[in-house]
Amino acid sequence: MLRVLILGGTSDVAELASRISDITGVEAITSLAGRTREPVLPVGNVRVGGFGGVTGLVEYLQHQQIDVLIDATHPFANHISWNGAIAATEAGIPRLLVNRPPWEKLLGDHWIEVENITNAAAALEHQAKRVFLTIGRQEISAFTHLQEMWFLMRMIDPLPANVITPPGFVLCDRGPFNLENEREILTHHQIDTIVSKNSGGNATYPKIIAAREMGVKVVMVNRPPIPPGEEVPDVESAVMWLLDKVNLQ
Ligand code: NAP
Repeated sequence: MLRVLILGGTSDVAELASRISDITGVEAITSLAGRTREPVLPVGNVRVGGFGGVTGLVEYLQHQQIDVLIDATHPFANHISWNGAIAATEAGIPRLLVNRPPWEKLLGDHWIEVENITNAAAALEHQAKRVFLTIGRQEISAFTHLQEMWFLMRMIDPLPANVITPPGFVLCDRGPFNLENEREILTHHQIDTIVSKNSGGNATYPKIIAAREMGVKVVMVNRPPIPPGEEVPDVESAVMWLLDKVNLQ
């Protein structure tokens, strides 16, 4: 048996775990951070919660006798990806990063590209009045000083009561989102600017299409650097990579 640990956190993970469960001679455990209240659970074995940094992850890999690590976390989940890379090296096992390609700017897009969330907040100043904030809930505090703007803040789960938000409305919803829905949001709330991470993939891309159609600006946060190592763009290629490992056994 080849034992695989999948680091989860994206919509691709359910498909990846399902495809891996069909491979004879492979046993997988999917690990979720436990951030969302009702996560979409992949098939097979699932564990939830942090490992306790690199040390905890190395211990876990060794204790569970993991042979292969597949990192299918979100492109902005930087800590766990670097921890995974270091831990896999320390444990002496191969690691693969499933890194879906970022969105490319197309004709008609009005993007303001920034390097991080703090710069995204700075880019809004003197430019935006009604903002669709689609960065999740963890970094909302970077926008609280922008009291003269109005924000529609979309996230999966409600914020804890003690979190201070900028003026506006919290919309709890989970992707995938369709184009009609995104057009309706931009129109109904008279949005002039979207703030988005460059997550790539199809599930959250319709807002970018709607912005292009309607001449809405997008403050696009570019991705943080990824750890060096083997990398594939999608689930299909990850399955092929894993099949090679099985065949080498
Ligand atoms: P992060 O900053 O990279 O990770 C913070 C800590 O959370 C890690 O050090 C680790 O704790 C724990 N963790 C993260 N992913 C884990 C996993 N799959 N299994 C076990 N522990 C995990 O990540 P984040 O940005 O807070 O995101 C948390 C989760 O939400 C990730 O799995 C990510 O894929 C998903 N997500 C993130 C974003 C985003 O924009 N950041 C968007 C969509 C989904 P220990 O150090 O204790 O091991």
